[in-house]
Amino acid sequence: MNLKKRLIIQNAAIVAIPVLITIIASFVYIFICSHVFNADLSYESIQKLTKIQYEFFTADGNLLDGNPDKLLQKDFQQYVTERFNELNSYIVVLRKYDILFSTKMINPIEIEKCLETNKKNLLNNSVQLNDGSYIVKALPLKYSNGSDGWAILLAPIGKETSASEKLLYFSAGFFLISFFITNLLVSINSSKGILSPLSKLQTAAGEISRGNLDYEVIEDGDYEIRELCKSFEQMRLKLKESVYTQMKYDDNRKMLVSSISHDLKTPITSIKGYVEGIIDGVANTPEKVEKYLKTVHTKAAQVDSMIDDLLLYSKLDLNQIPFNFEKTDIVKYFEYCVLENEAELEKSNITLKLQNELTTDTYVLIDRERLRRVITNIIDNSKKYMNKSAGEIKIILRETQATIVIETSDNGSGIPKEDLPYVFDRFYRADAARSKMKGSGLGLAIAKQIIEGHGGSIWVRSIENEGTSIMLSLKKVPEGEDC
Ligand code: ATP
Ligand code: MG
Repeated sequence: MNLKKRLIIQNAAIVAIPVLITIIASFVYIFICSHVFNADLSYESIQKLTKIQYEFFTADGNLLDGNPDKLLQKDFQQYVTERFNELNSYIVVLRKYDILFSTKMINPIEIEKCLETNKKNLLNNSVQLNDGSYIVKALPLKYSNGSDGWAILLAPIGKETSASEKLLYFSAGFFLISFFITNLLVSINSSKGILSPLSKLQTAAGEISRGNLDYEVIEDGDYEIRELCKSFEQMRLKLKESVYTQMKYDDNRKMLVSSISHDLKTPITSIKGYVEGIIDGVANTPEKVEKYLKTVHTKAAQVDSMIDDLLLYSKLDLNQIPFNFEKTDIVKYFEYCVLENEAELEKSNITLKLQNELTTDTYVLIDRERLRRVITNIIDNSKKYMNKSAGEIKIILRETQATIVIETSDNGSGIPKEDLPYVFDRFYRADAARSKMKGSGLGLAIAKQIIEGHGGSIWVRSIENEGTSIMLSLKKVPEGEDC
């Protein structure tokens, strides 16, 4: 429900519901009175009672018009008598306690009773006189000669008058109670739709301002408030994302600094050692000098590639490298890839084969250079961790309905089961024994970043001592579709 609609409905309900309930209750009351207690609760009797009450209530202004002396004039008395006869009611006019004019026989004790009742009770203005019950109203008078007096108005309470009067009280009371209850229910309802979601939102705002960015804002309440919650939740997510990026950036920076200092220390120490060997004359033959320099060169190249890897990983991690996607025939791409690598692998007695299980020409959207980097990292690992004399690397191309799956499997040393979940983590290197192998543990982390940048996924399967398979899946581009 929207807020405007709710307010309109609520305001209408506050008036309409009590009125409706009162009408129904009054009808029930009339039905019970007339059928069970045999009281005449006709429209006329209610109208008559209302008329009497009205006449009595307004007599001071309407009838006397602020001039009680009128009551001493014969023709006015005649007029008043007729008017009260019409209503089947009476008037008694007093100066002090002396009767000046009366349309009913009444004794001083009864007069006293009437004045007492009038004084005592505002709500129940009925009095019991010798010949029955009456509704009474006494108006104080001040005559022009300065004397005080009273005009006592009396209307006999018949069975029907009493029932009608009760009905009026009942209806008024019922209206007040139902009005109160409706108000209460409407307040509870609006609290559910407006106040409680607002208070939840306030709590969420408090939590977020205290730095708890995981405090979810739940959409609740009326349309406008739900929209407000939605915007608030979006704001929280954006804020969380930016804080997370900032933290990641800081973390990355710290990690880079610590790993650079750690990983670069080893080759740089040995470069320093070899250079000192040359300076101190330990390398005393030209052959030795050349050997030392070659080692220095290899170590420097190692440092160089390590720094390249670190920078690339860091940039990929922060999404700073734009991808240059091109529609590419995956089979042709891998045929070329095998051609490019097989000669080099052959030197290490490793065969590289492509097994194409695709049935049609299949295209993918790739950044060719970056994907090359992924394949190189994977093949490098297969070569680096090869422990068989006849090494084998197989690239198998398969497809699912929407993706191409590229599996690169080797028959190398395999990865221990407990290390498998972490091999794509940066700087993670399985098996401490192999840490003698050169590397910084960034190869697969970079591959993962690049594949995820393609909207694809990468995973590993490996059995220790039998071999490792790295799987990549990339979305197919439907044939004929231009990108
Ligand atoms: P870098 O690639 O940065 O030079 P690295 O090769 O140690 O260093 P990754 O390529 O990220 O790092 O690989 C992480 C770890 O996974 C490796 O240290 C290795 O233990 C294990 N691993 C990866 N590929 C293979 C594989 N084909 N055979 C056996 N172990 C592997
Ligand atoms: Mg590697």
